[in-house]
Amino acid sequence: MGIDAGFDMVPRLSKSALDRFNWDSFIRRVKEEYKDDDRVEIKPNYIEFNVGEHPLLPFEGHKFLRFSSKISGSLCGDAQEYVSTVSLIAEVSFGSRALCWSEIYDQYGHYGWKEVHESIRTYEQRDPQERPTSIAQLITGTDPIADMGLSLYEIRSIPGKGKGLVARFNISKGARIIVEKPLFTITPAAASIESNVIAKVRALSKDQQRQFLSLHNNFQGKSIFGGICKTNALPCGVDAIVGGVYPTICLINHCCVPNAHHSWNSKTNSETVHALRYIQAGEEIMIAYDYDKASAPRRANLKNSFGFDCSCRLCSLPRSELQKSDERRLRIKQLDEAIGDSSRVMNTPVLADCQEMLRLLDEEYDGGSSPPDARLYYDAFQIAITHSDQARASVFGERMYKARVVCEGEDSPATVCAKNFMQHPAQHLNFGASKRWRTTKTAVPKGLNGEQFEKWLWRSQSG
Ligand SMILES: [Zn+2]
Repeated sequence: MGIDAGFDMVPRLSKSALDRFNWDSFIRRVKEEYKDDDRVEIKPNYIEFNVGEHPLLPFEGHKFLRFSSKISGSLCGDAQEYVSTVSLIAEVSFGSRALCWSEIYDQYGHYGWKEVHESIRTYEQRDPQERPTSIAQLITGTDPIADMGLSLYEIRSIPGKGKGLVARFNISKGARIIVEKPLFTITPAAASIESNVIAKVRALSKDQQRQFLSLHNNFQGKSIFGGICKTNALPCGVDAIVGGVYPTICLINHCCVPNAHHSWNSKTNSETVHALRYIQAGEEIMIAYDYDKASAPRRANLKNSFGFDCSCRLCSLPRSELQKSDERRLRIKQLDEAIGDSSRVMNTPVLADCQEMLRLLDEEYDGGSSPPDARLYYDAFQIAITHSDQARASVFGERMYKARVVCEGEDSPATVCAKNFMQHPAQHLNFGASKRWRTTKTAVPKGLNGEQFEKWLWRSQSG
């Protein structure tokens, strides 16, 4: 006997290109997580975890029903830690389709053990390779995109906007759409001097020079090289002065309610773009050059900094609707300032502001608000840990981690940092500044329903 825990894939994955792509991304994340762990073995057709009951993850996702192990008893070793980490990565990759369960909480898997064991027996033998017979078949999804090295986007002309990127396939939330190194990096001050930019461009290969010169210039009449830099450079990190110019990422157009997010990965020195929500095949992929201002200052900044008049779906709303959005953005800004006030955090800590701000962000960004959500969960984490509340801090840490994975990926330094705070909240510098809400990490209540849990988390009853 013993207690089992794990996750089931419900419904099971198909052989469609999208499901294969998502499974491959999940497998990559797991490999990345355990690359230095000799208890996790990469076999020809699956990953084997040499803990507990040796759970497996096959490389062919359509065969998979369950990942689980006994997590108590003499033979389980550290199985619980492995099962919960892999389940969390699955949840981040597949959302509620990865149905996590644990017998500790009286939860049981979706499938019967007989069919689970049958599915595991098929891992050993790979299916014969199927190749698409036509482009139509490829688009409707019978071949793995990643295996064929195909990209998720194509470059197209977009009426009124020059070029842009359009999704070739349905793209799931959190998928990495593109990763790219800059052609070069430059500060705005240096970019304003034409000879500096020309020197940077001269140092490029002929192909790269062509890529640079094919980028859009919204500042016609002034110097071309500086104009292209000003139109296209993206900051290398939040608040960074240095900007990067990219051959493909710079073709991505702006939207005030973006469906994708770009971020600088200082570890790999590259820029990544992730889907903030589900993107349908044929939809334009768009990022936000300017995030949180109300419409008038936002549009003025876009005009001044990037040289265009924004006509995105938010900016084109009727006046009354746009006003609602402006009010939300102003309220978000107010809350953000109140939440960041350090004397308030210390003396009159309130989590309700964070909860209200999350709701407004969700409304304003159509559910695609992972970047500001991640920052906000970090604020909530800091409030909790300042008052020694490790239980809530670990939950906020987990939510911050999940939001970071969506918008920046598992390998981003900010995601790694969020994960560390999730696992070891007490390592934060502010831990113990006050003992007002002291709890241990294991004091997260069990057996509450969703609504009750949120009430506990945000201290809605006790204030
Ligand atoms: Zn706009």
